[in-house]
Order: sequence, then C-alpha cells, then structure tokens
Amino acid sequence: MVHFVGAGPGAPDLITLRGAELLKQADVIIYAGSLVNPVLLETAKQDCEIHNSAAMTLEEVLAVMERAEAEGKTTVRLHTGDPCVYGAIREQMDALDELGIPYDDVPGVSSFCGAAAALRAEYTLPGVSQSVIITRLAGRTPVPEAESLTSMASHGASMAVFLSSGMLGRVQEELLKGAYTADTPAALVYKATWPEEKTVRCTVGTLAQAGEEHGISKTALVLVGNFLDSPYEKSKLYDPSFTTEFREASR
Ligand code: SAH
Repeated sequence: MVHFVGAGPGAPDLITLRGAELLKQADVIIYAGSLVNPVLLETAKQDCEIHNSAAMTLEEVLAVMERAEAEGKTTVRLHTGDPCVYGAIREQMDALDELGIPYDDVPGVSSFCGAAAALRAEYTLPGVSQSVIITRLAGRTPVPEAESLTSMASHGASMAVFLSSGMLGRVQEELLKGAYTADTPAALVYKATWPEEKTVRCTVGTLAQAGEEHGISKTALVLVGNFLDSPYEKSKLYDPSFTTEFREASR
C-alpha cells in the first residue's frame, strides 16, 4: 500500500496526526527533498528505507513503490504542504492504478495557509474578498491561456501565487494589468512556518524591489489583495442581530 501524505508547510508539528503515524510505521519513505522538512524523517523506523525524490524521475519513484509493494511493504510518499496543490500526485496515482497498487491520500496544511498564519491574515474578509485564487506564473510548466496571471488578476480577489518568487518582475507586471493597482497590498512569505521564515509586506508596485531587498527568490509565496490591509465588514455569523441555525438574534 502507498500512502500519499501532506507534510505541511515546514514546521514538523504541522503534519496531521494520521500523517505522523503513517511516517512512523512506513517501511519505505519517498520524500520531496526540496521542500519537505527533513526533521520529519527522524520519526521513521530505524530500518526504514528513505529516498529523496528531488533526485529521482517519475519512473524511479514508481520503481521504488513497485518493489516495496512486491515485498509486502508500506510506502509513504511525502509531499510538501497538501499533495493536491502542485503535488504531481495524479500521474503517480494513475500509474499505481495501472500497476494495481492500492493507495490513499492524507491531506496536509498547504503553504498558502501557513503563509496566512504567518501574517495573521484572513483571505476571506466580508466586503473585501470572498475568494482565494491559487495560481502561478507560467514557467517551464505552461499555464492555460485563460488562466494567465493577468486574467486571474482581473477579479481583484485575494490571491496566493505559488512557484513564482523567482520571477517577481513579471508577477508585478502581470498583476498590474489586472484589477490591482501599484498600491494594492502584497506580501512575500519565505519558508512559512520554518525557523527561518521571513515575511515582507509591500505593495504590488514594490514586489520586485521587496524581493531583491530581502533576498527572496525561491520557496516563497506571493500574497496579493486588499485582505492584507483594508477596512472590512464584520461577519454575519457572529452578528448579534443575525439569527442562525444555532442562535437566535438578541436584538
Ligand atoms: N503542495 C505544496 C506546494 C508545492 S509547489 C503546498 O500545498 O504548499 C512549491 C511551491 O510552494 C514553492 O515554490 C512555494 O511557492 C510554495 N511553498 C511551499 N512551501 C512553502 C513555505 N513553507 N513557505 C512559502 N512558500 C512555500
């Protein structure tokens, strides 16, 4: 059996209880070495076989899983954050289906949640934005034309831009062609929840400059939107004059 497990954004105590238990029991661990905190591997069994997928191809990863399965072993495939966001898990799962190897998926705390926590921010402020766009700039992996950063930016919604902190000049340029202005609040969050976490608040117009000044060009998220610094309306759910399924309005 193969367990895909979300490792969380970095801090080793941000993995789920289920994920941590599977790590302890695994006979084989294949971890995404570029972003998974290696401290998590310290709980592995002494004789656990550990592979860093940063140096492996898809075929090599699958070959390890196939051999482990043939030997009756349990494999944990440890992905950063939550595996469902830029995790490249679908191709692994499809191959496992073809091989007849069973698997499941244990969610994790995605880095866009870790980054919001680092900034003590809420993406979904009433009267400001009720949507979070998770996206990226096109790099070596293309982005469908209809999802270009500029077209995503046309909504002015809260946005978390992954995999793009090495191209902040282009990020800034494309965001400014949308609904954001040079003054729209933005932030760079480097290694959210790791000991070396860095948060830099700036504006869309100063994103590239902020990245340069603070030496941030990888392992970072770009957060954009008025949720970072704007007046908002209070939630209806906790409004005294609002009746909900669980509470009568008091006035
Ligand atoms: N599955 C992961 C994303 C993997 S893609 C998740 O759910 O978070 C890798 C990108 O995620 C990085 O380029 C960076 O943009 C972002 N990222 C991952 N971990 C991060 C962290 N701790 N802090 C900031 N950004 C992070």
